Amino acid sequence: MEYSHRYPAYPTQEVAAELEYHINVHRQAYNYTLYEYEHVDADDIGSAYKHHSRLPDWKDQFSVFSAVNSKALQRTITRFYQNLSGLSEKKQNGHKVGELKWKSPREFKSMTFSQSGFELKNTSGRRATLWLSKIGDIKIRYHRDIPDEADIKEVTVKKETTGEWFVSFGLETDDENLPGKPDVNSLDASNSVGLDLGILNYIHTSDGKAVDWLDLEDEYERLRREQRKLSRKQEGSNNYEKQRKQVANVKRHIRRKVLDYQHKLTTWLVREYDAVFVEDLDVKGMLEQSYNARNKQDAAWRQFITLLDYKADLYGTHVVPVEARGTTKECAACGVETPKSIWVREHSCPSCGFETERDANAAMNVLQRGFSELGLGWPEDTSVETALPTDTAGFQRVSAKRVVETGSLGA
Ligand SMILES: [Zn+2]
Repeated sequence: MEYSHRYPAYPTQEVAAELEYHINVHRQAYNYTLYEYEHVDADDIGSAYKHHSRLPDWKDQFSVFSAVNSKALQRTITRFYQNLSGLSEKKQNGHKVGELKWKSPREFKSMTFSQSGFELKNTSGRRATLWLSKIGDIKIRYHRDIPDEADIKEVTVKKETTGEWFVSFGLETDDENLPGKPDVNSLDASNSVGLDLGILNYIHTSDGKAVDWLDLEDEYERLRREQRKLSRKQEGSNNYEKQRKQVANVKRHIRRKVLDYQHKLTTWLVREYDAVFVEDLDVKGMLEQSYNARNKQDAAWRQFITLLDYKADLYGTHVVPVEARGTTKECAACGVETPKSIWVREHSCPSCGFETERDANAAMNVLQRGFSELGLGWPEDTSVETALPTDTAGFQRVSAKRVVETGSLGA
């Protein structure tokens, strides 16, 4: 499977200048590919592979192309053809699209080293060094390990509009090196979990854990402050532009914090359990949330589920989406549906008398639906009551801070 890891990078001023120079040469290579594609009639134009063979000519004509790594230069030509095929795909799907355009420096901020010309070194703790040919060493914040069995296929270096640098490793792990998923018949309530993805930013698990969301109050307060400042600036002025960047910075900071947190949570889940069942959120969102809040929340949970999904293969865990409709209303013990208002926090079944927290009941239903999705019945030796670890009086609270600090939710 293919996936990627992204890290903040901290080039020295000297190396940063070198990076910018190289990216600019790649930009020219990209534009020159476009030029040749449109104006030159030759046999070796029309596909990335054929176009690569024009590189020696380029270098004879323009010495600037000799200054950068050859494989990376090939990759830039490939990028042009990828954009081209992306464009024609959109056209075929009935979208109105223009032609590929020349890229200005503002629009071209990255380059990719493919197969060679790079090396990841000194990975110890949270630091590492990326070496790039014809450029040098770049320090990176190595906050997530690249798995031993992964091959690094390529490295993309990018400068964000904020001026920050990032490197992104394109990784591939052979399927035969991936841990196998446990036999479904070995799954039971002790090694599987159902998740209730909350409306108010939390997760409840079917085995009785309540995981808080990150506290982003300070960040959102800062965002509001910067947005107020922006509203007082004259649109189009220098100060306006400066302030617009400030707002973008805070937003980006929040997004990154959320993503980092979701990485930790999802990694914990796929390590801890053999099977993770999760609600397909669309329906629930429509029913229980206002439109605007729903969009934001849906986006966050969708990202969460996407991460969970790709880690399922990486760590050898079943991740199965289940129908979300009715998980709150349905009684996990007897299946009878009882309508509940959104503010009713308890589940108390008028039919069988089963009582627990609203979200525990929902998570239990997710677990059961997951089992039936996999063609398994509810394990006979596990009644609903005993599947909950405690007396169901309350969830074991796990604070977001603990997830961030230890990357673990264990007691
Ligand atoms: Zn019941």
